[in-house]
Amino acid sequence: MSNVEGKVVILTGASSGIGEATAKELASHGAKLVLGARRKERLQELQKNLDKEGAASTYKVVDVTSREQVEALAQHAIDEFGQIDVMINNAGLMPQSLLNNQKVDEWERMVDVNIKGVLYGISSVLPQMREQKEGHIINISSIAGHEVFPGSSVYSGTKFAVRAITEGLRKEEAPEHNIRTTILSPGAIDTELTDTITDTDVKPGVDELYKQAIHPDSIARSIRFAVEEPADVSINEMLIRPTSQQ
Ligand code: NDP
Repeated sequence: MSNVEGKVVILTGASSGIGEATAKELASHGAKLVLGARRKERLQELQKNLDKEGAASTYKVVDVTSREQVEALAQHAIDEFGQIDVMINNAGLMPQSLLNNQKVDEWERMVDVNIKGVLYGISSVLPQMREQKEGHIINISSIAGHEVFPGSSVYSGTKFAVRAITEGLRKEEAPEHNIRTTILSPGAIDTELTDTITDTDVKPGVDELYKQAIHPDSIARSIRFAVEEPADVSINEMLIRPTSQQ
């Protein structure tokens, strides 16, 4: 039996890209999925597909910038499936821009979704995981959470923050409370992520870089690998790029 079988997995940003691919991958290995995002129709469609495959899943519309809504998502998981084994904080956006182009609203949005959304995801599941004496929190950072490029300052700042927070979480929670953490940092992955870029000084360069983007299934498989390891093994960090990416 796969070690994924029967695990209750909450997944934010499940309505497209990496989240959608991960939901399918984990469901095909027997996980029970609790899907969250804002676009209800996409979640409904995904749930229908998972249903057809015989996988147990449920969804809840959630904006991760709302602490209450993220808490309601965690509660929904407990109400439906009685436990939370894995929390995947995947929702994010990447409106890259040059600082001098003054996209201040977009900076705020990235801080709200990419950092605060992850923090709400952590706070909403920690008490339950401590009670269970077991859990796994997977946070999606980025190669841009390891390196900064012109145009990526704020996005990189949010993704560096995700790594810092996850490492702190590991040191505080793993040894005593048996809560595993994984930081997953993807390179160029073919999703809707670049659609949020409005800065025309930056977009052509990103579009060029994303010509080599790989399928989100590559990330989904890596997430499955981290989930699949036995409870005493913690895959703390992974970087996954297209082979051709510098
Ligand atoms: P997509 O744009 O395809 O997916 C982003 C997901 O986040 C969507 O499901 C979207 O759902 C959700 N989302 C955005 N804002 C919110 C919000 N306020 N509340 C709830 N959900 C939200 O991109 P990816 O799949 O690529 O992105 C997934 C993660 O991977 C992000 O954290 C991204 O930064 C990271 N990443 C992606 C890379 C890539 O090259 N694609 C590279 C490195 C990291 P909805 O709009 O329905 O709410």
